[in-house]
This record gives sequence, C-alpha cells and structure tokens, in this order.
Amino acid sequence: MFDVEKIRRDFPILTEKVYGKPLVYFDNGATTQKPKCVLERIMRAYTTENGNIHRGVHYMSEIATERHEAAREIIARFIGASSSQEVIFTRGTTESINLVARTLPDVICQRGDEIVVSEMEHHSNIVPWQLAAERLGLKLKVIPITDGGDLRYDLLDEIITEKTKIVAITMVSNVLGTVNDVRQVIRQAKKVGAKVLVDGAQAIAHIHVDMRALGADFFAFSGHKVYAPNGIGVLWGRKEILEMMPPFMGGGEMIDRVTFEKTTYNKLPFKFEAGTPDYIGSLGLAEAINYLDRIGLDEIKNHENELMNYAVERICSMKGIRRIGSPEKCSGVLSFLVDKAHPYDVGAMLDKLGVAVRTGHHCAEPLMDRFGIPGTIRASFAIYNTKEEVEVFAKGLERIISIIG
Ligand code: PMP
Repeated sequence: MFDVEKIRRDFPILTEKVYGKPLVYFDNGATTQKPKCVLERIMRAYTTENGNIHRGVHYMSEIATERHEAAREIIARFIGASSSQEVIFTRGTTESINLVARTLPDVICQRGDEIVVSEMEHHSNIVPWQLAAERLGLKLKVIPITDGGDLRYDLLDEIITEKTKIVAITMVSNVLGTVNDVRQVIRQAKKVGAKVLVDGAQAIAHIHVDMRALGADFFAFSGHKVYAPNGIGVLWGRKEILEMMPPFMGGGEMIDRVTFEKTTYNKLPFKFEAGTPDYIGSLGLAEAINYLDRIGLDEIKNHENELMNYAVERICSMKGIRRIGSPEKCSGVLSFLVDKAHPYDVGAMLDKLGVAVRTGHHCAEPLMDRFGIPGTIRASFAIYNTKEEVEVFAKGLERIISIIG
C-alpha cells in the first residue's frame, strides 16, 4: 500500500519551515529531496568505507571498489541493461549527452549529415549537438510540436531521413510534462539506420524503463532527479557502439597502457570514466534506486498521476490561469501563466507562502519561443507530495490572482 505519510517521514527536509510556513516543495523537476536511507548511506560510506577505488591494494580501497561496482550492477538491473559494462558513471544528464555528442558524430557522421532533436528539448539536449554540428559541418533538424505539446509524429518520416545519423529526444518534457512515444521515434530512426539518444532526466523517477525493450542506443539521466545525491549520473550505451567511440576525456583509469608515443585504452565502462569517479555518489544512487524499488514505480506513478489530475482540475479551472500545453500523456509537471503577471513575480509570492515552484524558461528557450512566452510557472510533483499541498498551492494562487486583480 502506498502510504504518503510514511514516505514523508523518510525525507527530513520536509519538516523544515520556510518563512514560518510548512515547506511545499513542487520543484522536483529541478531536483528532488533525499530520503534518510540515502543520506545515511553517504555518511556510512565516508565513515567506514572510504578509499580511492580501483587502484589500491588496501582494505578501504578494495571495499570502496566493491561497493561502487555493486552499485553499477544495481543501476544496470534497474534500467534493464544487458550488462553493467554499458553503465557509465558521469556527473549527470548534461555530461552524459556531451560525452556522446563529443565522440559519436566523429565516427559515424560525414559533412552534410543530419542530427535530429525536438522542439521541446532541454538546452542540454540541443547545445551539445549544435557544437558537434559546427565542428563537423552537420545540420541540426527539429521535430516540431503541436499546440497541445505533443510531438508531430506525422512529420517523423519527413524529418528523419537517410541523411539522419543521430536522433536525440527527451522521454519526458521538463516543461510540459509530455510523455513522448519515444518508441515511435526510435522505429523511424532505425528504419534509416540512425542512432538514438534518449534524455531520461525527467523520466527516471516516474516511469519504468527497460533498455532491452526500449530499442534506443543511449539513455542519459541524473541521480539528483531520482532522490540521489548531486554530482552523479549515468550514461547507458549499447556496448558495440560504445566500443567504437573514442574516449571523451583523458586521464587516469581510462587507460590500458600509457607511453609518450601511444596510449591504449581501458575496457568498458572505464574507457569513459577518466579520473576519480564519484564513488560515494554511486552508492547514494544505488540506495535511492533500492528505495524506489521498495515502493514500486507503478505505485509512484499512480500517486503522482492523482496529484497531477487534481492540480489540473483545481488550478486550470481558475479564471486568470493559462495552462501551457496539455499533452495526451502527461507526467507530473504543470506549466502555466497567470494573466497580467510575470511568472517570476508569481513564483516569488508563492515562495513567501512556503510553496517552491520554478519560474522562467526552464532551459528550454526554443520551446518558450514556440509558445511566444518568456517563461512559465512550473509545479512538478514527487512521491512525497500530497493533495493537501496542492490545495495550499491552489489557495495561494487564488490569493495572488485576487491581489493582481
Ligand atoms: N534534460 C532534461 C529534460 C532536464 O529536465 C534536465 C534538468 N533540468 C537536464 C536534461 C539536465 O540535467 P542535469 O542538469 O542534471 O545535467
């Protein structure tokens, strides 16, 4: 049974007061709060299991290495990877995408080839590809969206063609909450032999993913958006493709043998993990994943859907509220504007009521341009949010609307 009150007790920050009011944290799309088990895991690692991994012969190094590699196995199982060799630790989604954009086009693209993204991408799934396009003389093409915020699936075969070598698409929009039918995009990409990277930043805490079933070639996500610490993230990639890609960064750990004349590289996944990895963050991430597994992603999805439906019903029916996008299939993200008010001012007023939302362009300026708006107010939900909190939020908005007049 999903028991939100029990879950809330796992998150120490939720008892904090802001400006004397209970914290209502609706900025989960930006980052999630951390459960006690994750915080305690980090504490335990630093107090009893700390030594730089992979290199030492001493106890602390060996135990830290063992724990770090066990964490990789847990993550591999969680995302349905066929091998933990396909799980590369990075700092987060942004670094994962940059890793691919910096190495893959160099081995599979010729001048004039095309990379396809969508109109709803986060800057971190646009700019790395733009940099690759500039470097190699490639063209960036964009899948447009409907007014409701869904991909224009009807245009896929026009946009993804024989010239397309890479398609980079988000699974869930961080602004609209759209859950994309990425399988449809992947099918079209595979028809023309293109590789596909899926940005899973907004999906990983809400949707069950399975790399074997998905059919993509790369999947990127950040730990901090899935109740794990900041500074750890994952790139999953297909082994045979990762093997043909050159290293991303050079340094310790990614090498097999170094001489001044020539260096050979380590096997996967270490070839892409130069330097000391965040071997404590990986333990925190594995702990967070075990925590989610204990609760169950289906239960989590149901709970968040209920909150989202209630928020849409309660807030979008208010006079003076304009929802941005209303996708066919939506994750727990609600973007809107208040008439006659700048999103920033609404966000600042909500903050004084203890309600944390995000305002602005959400690192998706092309999407803001698509809707002709400077930004939105965004509420994004997580496992520990409640209907009562949505009510506090809604009442706050009613007050703000009445003040603005
Ligand atoms: N993609 C999407 C869809 C996101 O929402 C975010 C974070 N807002 C990112 C990528 C980047 O994630 P990070 O900053 O953790 O690298």
